[in-house]
Amino acid sequence: MPIATAHVSSVTPTAQEAAQEAQRLSALRSLEVLDTPPDPDLDRLTRLVAHVFNVPTCLVSMVDSEQLWFKARCGFADPRFPRETSICHHVVMKQQTLVISDLSRDPLFSKYAWVQQQTNGFRFYAGAPLRTREGHVVGTLCLLDTRPRTEFTEADRTRLSTFADVVMSILQSHQQRLEIRRERELLSSGPVAALIWDTHTPASLLYRSGNLHDILGEAAMRHLDDGQPFEQLLPADRQDAFRAALQAHALGLDTWQEITYPLADGERWVQQITRGDLDNHGQLVRVRGFLLDVTATKRMEASLRQQEAERRQVQRLQALINEAQQNFLLSKDIQAACEALFEPLLQITGSRFGFIGITHIDEVGHKSLFVPTISNISWDEGSRHWYEEHQKRPNAMRFNNLDNLFGHVVTHGEVVLTNAPATHPASRGTPKGHPNLDSFLGIPLSFNGEVLGMIGLGNREGGFDEAVQQLLQPLVVTLGTLLHARVVEDQRQAMEEQLRHLASVDALTQLANRRAFMDAAEQQFRQARRYQQPCTLALLDLDHFKRINDEHGHAGGDAALKAFSQVMKQSTRETDLIGRVGGEEFAVLLTQTSEQEAWVALERIRQQLSQTTVAHGNSTMQLTVSIGMAPWHSALHGLEDWLTQADHALYGAKSGGRNCMVCATTPSIGRTVQPAEHPD
Ligand code: GH3
Ligand code: MG
Ligand code: MG
Repeated sequence: MPIATAHVSSVTPTAQEAAQEAQRLSALRSLEVLDTPPDPDLDRLTRLVAHVFNVPTCLVSMVDSEQLWFKARCGFADPRFPRETSICHHVVMKQQTLVISDLSRDPLFSKYAWVQQQTNGFRFYAGAPLRTREGHVVGTLCLLDTRPRTEFTEADRTRLSTFADVVMSILQSHQQRLEIRRERELLSSGPVAALIWDTHTPASLLYRSGNLHDILGEAAMRHLDDGQPFEQLLPADRQDAFRAALQAHALGLDTWQEITYPLADGERWVQQITRGDLDNHGQLVRVRGFLLDVTATKRMEASLRQQEAERRQVQRLQALINEAQQNFLLSKDIQAACEALFEPLLQITGSRFGFIGITHIDEVGHKSLFVPTISNISWDEGSRHWYEEHQKRPNAMRFNNLDNLFGHVVTHGEVVLTNAPATHPASRGTPKGHPNLDSFLGIPLSFNGEVLGMIGLGNREGGFDEAVQQLLQPLVVTLGTLLHARVVEDQRQAMEEQLRHLASVDALTQLANRRAFMDAAEQQFRQARRYQQPCTLALLDLDHFKRINDEHGHAGGDAALKAFSQVMKQSTRETDLIGRVGGEEFAVLLTQTSEQEAWVALERIRQQLSQTTVAHGNSTMQLTVSIGMAPWHSALHGLEDWLTQADHALYGAKSGGRNCMVCATTPSIGRTVQPAEHPD
């Protein structure tokens, strides 16, 4: 057999060669066999090949850029060898089997030290390319012998190539295993657990990744270890959805199924994505699944939902507050404002009972709580009656005894928050028949440090906490301000009332003053004209009043004026209007009174006065009065006209001798004058 020489030129490689070499090296590296521990499978194989070919040395030689790595070797000590002086390099470059029967006779290889050396210098080389599926030659399976071998046949070459293919498939399957292991390692240290279920119902687990424990937790793992079905890890109401997701694969529905479920312990949430593996006939053979712990996400969602609910509560409360303020501004009605707030207040806080109370201090300083709004507190016959009665009478519901739990809020001006009300120091127990009070929140409503009322809430599911109190803060501030505004409004109304009173009442006699009397007379005049009802106007002037003042002093005169106003009040009806229209001049308006009746009434005044002795200090006074009366009649032009007629009649009485009365329209009775008893 001729000596095969197949030398590769050592000139600089072309661009194409360089690119090819780069791809080859990349294919070699991706096998991940360089610089790795010996492989027992390959070691066994090299021993077998050496035996088959009856050579002392067989190598699996990976040809790297600068050196050879012997992935398996039999009969050779060094694990590496320089590429430059190797023959494997040439196999790789030529991409074909190379057989050198006698190296010592080869023009190139005979110069290599490992060929030339005296002892154990190699004489024979046969190398077959290790070719990847993609066609890259990454190394050789080579045979070496210390003696020349001319008997290496064509069949031997083929056999060597076949062994090379076996080596290659071992290398590639190792690489695949490595990849699978790496994927599993990646999975098992990552946040996603991998599972494989069979197609039974309930599905059994065929495989589970090592990190399943991290996702499902201790108890679930014990459950699975006991051979229990996976689906029982879910709450009963979720198991149908789980089964449906797995069965969807058997039905050939969507390739991927995704469901999210809590575990039965309620602590963890799992997101599950599955995919079905089908055989050649389209039958489902297994279901692969990936589980992800989404507890944190679920918690965050829950917390966001909670925050959203709280935000809505605050918004609702804000709207309520605005409404209460509006109501109050429009109607100044604190009861209506409280009522509008009350039901939503119970709802927002989730309380069963409640009330809003307004502190009231009576003239002797006793504090009580007026309750404009309260939840239905009829827990027995007595309380139902009490509640219904008070419902019917606005402003009537009051708590007079404040020596108790809710009273403590207003008497001490402090929040009472307790989920064990019976043990609170201020508790005096609940009235007989009162439903059990298991929690209580009382918040004072104050303005500038003054307690003006309170909110009382009872029996909240789960009890009261700081958060509820905090939530109500804006409402508490608003109600405090409204209660204060109510106090200010009450004061303003009282003052207005007083001013109105002062503006219309004569301070000395408490009779209507001139303006008030004239206003009323004007109205009466119009009324009389409209309904043609009889009524009479009279002017009364005390006789010789100057003398009274002169004899008894101004204070004596004032006492006389008061005494006269008393006489007038006593001698007239409630419906008659009496006014002081001048210093010692008075007027009386007798409504719905005929002329004769009026005459009688006024005469009663005159006579009553003349019979009255007014005491002042140590002295006494006698008074008389002259009266001019003018009954209304349709010919009168107006109040002025009416007054003038009365004034003329009065003048007539004065000039007629005083202490008498003259009627303007009926001379017949108008001159029924009592003789004056005064000296002039
Ligand atoms: P005649 O019988 O003509 O009415 O005589 P007279 O003195 O009552 O009449 P005149 O109108 O001249 O005087 C009224 C007096 O009444 C003058 C004033 O000093 C007195 N007088 C007016 N207002 C008051 C008052 O508020 N208190 C007191 N003490 N006297 C008053
Ligand atoms: Mg006068
Ligand atoms: Mg007078």
